[in-house]
Amino acid sequence: MPETAALLTPASIAGAAYIVAALLFIMSLAGLSRHETAKAGVNYGIAGMAIALVATVWLTFAGAWGSPQATTGLILLVVAVVVGAAIGLWRARLVPMTGMPELIALLHSFVGLAAVLVGWNGALEETGMTGALLDIHHAEVFIGVFIGAVTFTGSIVAFLKLSARMSSAPLMLPGKNALNLGALVAFVVLTVWYVITPELWLLVVVTALALALGWHLVASIGGGDMPVVISMLNSYSGWAAAAAGFLLNNDLLIVTGALVGSSGAYLSYIMCKAMNRSFISVIAGGFGIAAPSKGDAEVGEHREIEVEDAAEMLKNASSVVITPGYGMAVAQAQYPVAELTQKLRERGIEVRFGIHPVAGRLPGHMNVLLAEAKVPYDIVEEMDEINDDLADTSVVLVIGANDTVNPAAAEDPGSPIAGMPVLRVWEADNVIVFKRSMASGYAGVPNPLFYRDNAQMLFGDAKQRVEDILRAI
Ligand code: NDP
Repeated sequence: MPETAALLTPASIAGAAYIVAALLFIMSLAGLSRHETAKAGVNYGIAGMAIALVATVWLTFAGAWGSPQATTGLILLVVAVVVGAAIGLWRARLVPMTGMPELIALLHSFVGLAAVLVGWNGALEETGMTGALLDIHHAEVFIGVFIGAVTFTGSIVAFLKLSARMSSAPLMLPGKNALNLGALVAFVVLTVWYVITPELWLLVVVTALALALGWHLVASIGGGDMPVVISMLNSYSGWAAAAAGFLLNNDLLIVTGALVGSSGAYLSYIMCKAMNRSFISVIAGGFGIAAPSKGDAEVGEHREIEVEDAAEMLKNASSVVITPGYGMAVAQAQYPVAELTQKLRERGIEVRFGIHPVAGRLPGHMNVLLAEAKVPYDIVEEMDEINDDLADTSVVLVIGANDTVNPAAAEDPGSPIAGMPVLRVWEADNVIVFKRSMASGYAGVPNPLFYRDNAQMLFGDAKQRVEDILRAI
């Protein structure tokens, strides 16, 4: 069968493997969109990535097996993969759930850096191309380096902000919008220039410009908008990978990059809608967003509640809604919360969860924690599903949430988070707020909920306090 043998070239076999891997990635994304199928989604992703890796390595060395270059290349590759995988496994095993967003931001920065290096390599290597093809290659190099460098420094700033190594308040440089716009115009001009005369100093300039722009774009965005920034950087890292795919002539990298880029962009859009923010304003580095006011201005007297009284209130309630936030993740309180839920339900009390789309520090954070603690999915509701029922609820337990239940967003047009939809917990008969102090949340905005007549504070670590209530019940 000589014809069949001729069709089975290394490139065609790798191409077939790439199609299978791309399909697995699409199935992975589809699986990850629902709790029930998320695990299968992760497994599809792992299988797709394994196939992609094996096919790429095989394609790279096919036809050159045994040659000294191939052997050296393979040894270098194995060493790099082993070192990278070891560091990745070590970090991933150590990272607590609350540290996940920082880790993701850091991983995005690696994708950006890789795209910059691939771009520079593309500029320095001899391609043998001429004419229009060479012009396209130069444009690809420039665009790849630009997107990669913006992603790199933007992700590093996101990492620093999320790990509290840098203030979450927006950097308000004078004329910040003009700076961002100027950088974009300069990029377009430099790209045209580089295509006409591909001199290396132009690449140095665009790399420096993009590094500064990435830093500035993310530094200019305030705490409350960070969720959108993370998904946006996720999207940028996808486009950076796609740009690298064009340079490396690797179809799978282009497809995968486009999948990550478009799903990240869509997620950013959904999150902007959920937070009533303008998508353009956020991707333009906080265009038109004012700096949040500082300080925790007191707006009245707060009341405290004892554990026994809280337990009594819960026993007498007919319906309870729990709105968890970042503090539940920090305290790892999801397990006693799940137990409390079960105990109350056994007493015939209706218990549901209200999940704000940006609660915690990464999309779906609360859903993951509650699923981990085996809280039934059917009592976990989205903000829009539960908001209208809160007025008929006997007790709301706000467990380590703050910005996502802040009435200022709905009632104070001057608030930095004005217009962001929040869980209207203050409409319930009683609200118990579990936190350690009167400090404000991630966005740095004081929360008038704590001073409402129907709200009482239960100070302390959320896990310990919920366990105390369990004992009291
Ligand atoms: P917040 O960050 O607004 O507030 C969390 C509260 O938890 C704090 O006020 C803190 O108060 C309390 N807390 C911390 N540790 C504990 C503990 N051990 N026990 C009890 N309480 C604790 O949380 P939300 O979830 O309401 O809001 C999320 C915020 O994070 C939003 O501003 C969102 O924009 C932002 N964000 C979200 C991302 C996402 O993708 N979901 C990503 C990045 C940012 P105290 O110190 O007094 O205990």
